[in-house]
Amino acid sequence: MRASPITATVDFEAEGVQHGFLKLPHSHDASAWGAVMTPITVVKRGEGPTALLTGANHGDEYEGPIALFDLASRLTAEEVSGRVIIVPAMNAPAFRAARRTSPIDGGNMNRVFPGRPDGGVTEKIADYFQRSLLPMADLVLDIHAGGKTLEFVPFAAAHQLTDTDQQEKAMAAVAAFGAPYSLLLLELDSTGMYDTAAEDLGKVFVSTELGGGGSATARTAGIAKRGVANVLKHAGILGGHPEAAASCRLDMPDGDCYVTSETAGLIEYCVDLGDTVRAGDRLARIHDVERTGGTSIDYRAKRDGIFIGRHFPGLIALGDPVGVIGVPV
Ligand code: CA
Repeated sequence: MRASPITATVDFEAEGVQHGFLKLPHSHDASAWGAVMTPITVVKRGEGPTALLTGANHGDEYEGPIALFDLASRLTAEEVSGRVIIVPAMNAPAFRAARRTSPIDGGNMNRVFPGRPDGGVTEKIADYFQRSLLPMADLVLDIHAGGKTLEFVPFAAAHQLTDTDQQEKAMAAVAAFGAPYSLLLLELDSTGMYDTAAEDLGKVFVSTELGGGGSATARTAGIAKRGVANVLKHAGILGGHPEAAASCRLDMPDGDCYVTSETAGLIEYCVDLGDTVRAGDRLARIHDVERTGGTSIDYRAKRDGIFIGRHFPGLIALGDPVGVIGVPV
């Protein structure tokens, strides 16, 4: 396969702290010989594991960039045993445009892996992660939130994997993160995800959903910052022990955890995030907005559990998720 067009202005083998960019040539109307510049920090001291930390895989999710721009500005080499690679805005064009996907090519970073060195901008960045950054990593933490169209209770998550040893290591890192909820996540379609790419390479991979709505709160930003430090301590890259936090452990046994809208309209939630629900409980009503006098349609929980995720805007479309249920273990 051809070489990546991306070059790093940092040396991944050098000791100390380096701030730089991943530079991808990109010729466009505003800059004929321009480049997409993705900020990156590498902090290395001696031998030890490598952690790869990413935010803004989706550009409208802010806890990751907040925690990682902050960490990148503070972390010193003296604190580190091994290496920390920090990319606060993985899909930098999307992040700068406050969009989920790239304004350049519409690319959804978490659906284009393993990427292509000769594809669009988003695929080229994914390919660089796939072939250059992921192979260096022992532990990968990708910080997501709900973005403009979803909202979640704050959770860290690992995936159900066929390799149980790998799954246990990932769940240990999830527990170390110390979010209010720890989830063993079921993906409805994991094709093209960064998560899957990292897991297929045998990496310990931790994801999160730390809020949503296209902004961050003091609470969720704090959870992200503490979680990043905890995971680095858990990996032995930072000294000390993860700060203990009570975390509710959840599973997603099957697709009944998801309730999908089969109508469009005005959504009235009847439960809030974090509420305990029983199978058959009404999660939401969707009102017809085209005319008065119509009937609203009820959406009900298909299993007992905790209401952990919901649609965010007030209007909902056909096919949008109404709710996500997690089942306490
Ligand atoms: Ca996301």
